[in-house]
Amino acid sequence: MIQPQINHTIFKTIAQIASELNVQAYVIGGYVRDILLNRLSDDVDIMVVGSGIELAEAVAGKMGSKKVKVFKNFGTAMFSLEDANGRLEVEFVGARKESYRSDSRKPIVEDGTLADDQARRDFTINAMAFSLNNSDFGTLIDPFGGMNDLKNKIIRTPLDPDITFSDDPLRMLRAIRFACQLNFSIEPSAYEAITRNAHRLDIISAERITEEVNKIMLSRKPSVGFIMLEETGLLKKFFPQLQALKGVETRDKIGHKDNFYHTLQVLDNIAPNTSDLWLRWAAMLHDIAKPATKKFEPGIGWTFHGHEFLGAKMIPKIFTQLRLPLNEKMKYVQKLVQLHLRPIVLSQEIVTDSAVRRLLFDAGDDIDDLMTLCEADITSKNEEKVRRFLKNFQLVRQKLVEIEAKDRIRNWQPPIDGEIIMNTFGLKPCRQIGLIKNAVKDAILDGIIPNDYEQAFGYMIQEALKHGIMPLTNNSGN
Ligand code: ATP
Repeated sequence: MIQPQINHTIFKTIAQIASELNVQAYVIGGYVRDILLNRLSDDVDIMVVGSGIELAEAVAGKMGSKKVKVFKNFGTAMFSLEDANGRLEVEFVGARKESYRSDSRKPIVEDGTLADDQARRDFTINAMAFSLNNSDFGTLIDPFGGMNDLKNKIIRTPLDPDITFSDDPLRMLRAIRFACQLNFSIEPSAYEAITRNAHRLDIISAERITEEVNKIMLSRKPSVGFIMLEETGLLKKFFPQLQALKGVETRDKIGHKDNFYHTLQVLDNIAPNTSDLWLRWAAMLHDIAKPATKKFEPGIGWTFHGHEFLGAKMIPKIFTQLRLPLNEKMKYVQKLVQLHLRPIVLSQEIVTDSAVRRLLFDAGDDIDDLMTLCEADITSKNEEKVRRFLKNFQLVRQKLVEIEAKDRIRNWQPPIDGEIIMNTFGLKPCRQIGLIKNAVKDAILDGIIPNDYEQAFGYMIQEALKHGIMPLTNNSGN
């Protein structure tokens, strides 16, 4: 990401060539907004009244950029530029006029004027352009008061918001995403229009929705975006499991906390400590199974037994539904969700070496992320309580470091694997192999035997004998 500026040599070059080709060119949209906001950006959109492709090819040639990607059907062309400040993606497109049908967010497109093209933009702050024409180079063209909205931190649609959002319902998510990223508010009539048009989200693909949701997740205070998604009725359309966390039930005058707001607080808490999208997803999903595991137990109160296990199990379906990747990132999120209560339990008890070793073994290299998640999970309003919990976690962290330095458990593999067990006892794959393997692993983690092959081998034999399994006679174990 680089600092956007109108002084970049590319803009002078575009102006010169546009004049030679007798077309008008403008830099428009996000890049203009980001110049005015002093924000980093690396995507430049050039709007051309005339052929965008011809201008792109001529400019790329002049700037020494070899590869121009041309999309003839869309009348667009793009290339990238590298310089000392970084990389710039520059896209050229002809000015358009758009009209919509009700069953698709893909418009019918015709050639248009600068004014048509500005009017088809989603928000006033995204509809501003700087002229790249020699006669008025650098002049801001702002027909909808975008500059004023930038100053007042307002997201407003250039045209009637009901039409804007119904035409392309993705804009509702973009409005909320920009409001959240930029710390702007959505103009009240636009906000109401989102609520009225929430049902239109049905025509948007899950991929597009998730792209915006991930940007909200990565913002400085994600709760702001998710609260708006919930309030407007968008959230339940694409993420009903999160919606289900909302609400408080009371019985015998005992209520439980509202897990929706708690989850958002955890997300906000973790945001300053990580910009890793997947750790933030783990924060989002850590209590996702609370509604499904909720019980009122007289004399005890509300319980959510096993929500960490069920939560981990729910994740593949949620990732599929949101088109998030079903790969090691998902496994990582599952692991953190499943383990998220373990450090808490540790911090409440006298910490034994064996419990710490087990946690290190189960979390492996993700132990630090797990601790970051658990610290964010403290959302009590009682400052004294928060301080005490954080101090306890500090002790757990210290203990983790000490035990890891001594026993190196993080990336440890137990010395006895299934192969050794099968060879020693002449077994085919069966349940007993897992039992014996786990018994040996547990014995080492519990400190019953040292982490040593010979000792582990002896323990394996003893354990097998308990199951009535005898070693093959010629097997020495080496
Ligand atoms: P970011 O880079 O943070 O996503 P951006 O505004 O640059 O922000 P892009 O998706 O690259 O986002 O869009 C570039 C410009 O195209 C926008 O500034 C806006 O003018 C216009 N635009 C993008 N999506 C839409 C849309 N769905 N409806 C109308 N105009 C849009």
